Amino acid sequence: MRLLVTGGAGYVGSVVAAQLVEAGHEVTVLDDLSTGHADAVPDGARFVQGSISDASAALAGVDAVLHFAAKSLVGESVEKPGLYWANNLGGTLALLHAMREQGVRRIVFSSTAATYGEPERSPIQESDPTRPTNPYGASKLAVDTTLTAYAGLHGLGAVSLRYFNVAGAYGRFRERHTVETHLIPNVLKVATGERESVSVFGTDYPTPDGTCLRDYIHVSDLARAHLLALDTIIEGEHKIYNLGNGTGFSVQEVISVCREVTGHEIPAVVGPRRAGDPAVLVASSEKIQRELGWKPERTSLREIVSDAWEGLSGR
Ligand code: UDP
Repeated sequence: MRLLVTGGAGYVGSVVAAQLVEAGHEVTVLDDLSTGHADAVPDGARFVQGSISDASAALAGVDAVLHFAAKSLVGESVEKPGLYWANNLGGTLALLHAMREQGVRRIVFSSTAATYGEPERSPIQESDPTRPTNPYGASKLAVDTTLTAYAGLHGLGAVSLRYFNVAGAYGRFRERHTVETHLIPNVLKVATGERESVSVFGTDYPTPDGTCLRDYIHVSDLARAHLLALDTIIEGEHKIYNLGNGTGFSVQEVISVCREVTGHEIPAVVGPRRAGDPAVLVASSEKIQRELGWKPERTSLREIVSDAWEGLSGR
């Protein structure tokens, strides 16, 4: 297929673009490089530097879009909600408009667990309430809502994948955020000497060791789900699937595994809770397993951390 990957110079987008090229698709990456890196575009993909608000030319002759381009920092979204609504919702509306003009009727969308907000139960199912607690999650939910409407109104075929905590690397394709807020890369930065210690945001949660539980999914497993989704899109339908491992690991467990993998002592300093962090966020991925036959293969935290460490250091 001829595919447009928006945000394909970013972390998840570059891994998906790489897997699509390996699967024999003709891939164009559209990325404005505001947070992505040109050298993350995989060999064999065409690169267009530009905005999703101006995607018409890049969409000519395309069979489907995989849409990753977005602002994705929760804290920043609270400080600059307008930026998040403009980029994530406004940008996507412009992209959808251009898709209609160019007759492109299929899209796989990078959604998030942040659409659910504070969960009522664990693991979270797709039918659970969506009550995002920050503009990032709200803007992604607004796109999901739009996709449902456009499927009904315009015959768009769409799949939203709601990611839980993506981690690990796929060869040289890895997490490289200028502002790094995520736990695993921050812990590994202590092992590489870029940071002196890692902060543990709260040890008084109602969990076995008092730190938050998260569902870490290997980026390679996550990316594979996009290829399955692409193959199963039905025009006129919008499907939503969670993507996680179904297992929660605590902040302390993550730090311990990072110590084992790197052989570094990784000092940890206990700090206050981070605003807006739910105690437990674990996905039920039963729906995508049942309907698309997806199954995570790299489920051990050790494997996820080892791959992140290798990707980081070329070890
Ligand atoms: N966390 C932490 N120290 C850090 C970064 C994150 O203790 O330097 C905690 C955070 O409070 C949360 C978990 O690690 O409980 C995962 O956070 P991350 O930002 O990686 O992902 P989120 O679950 O917020 O999407």
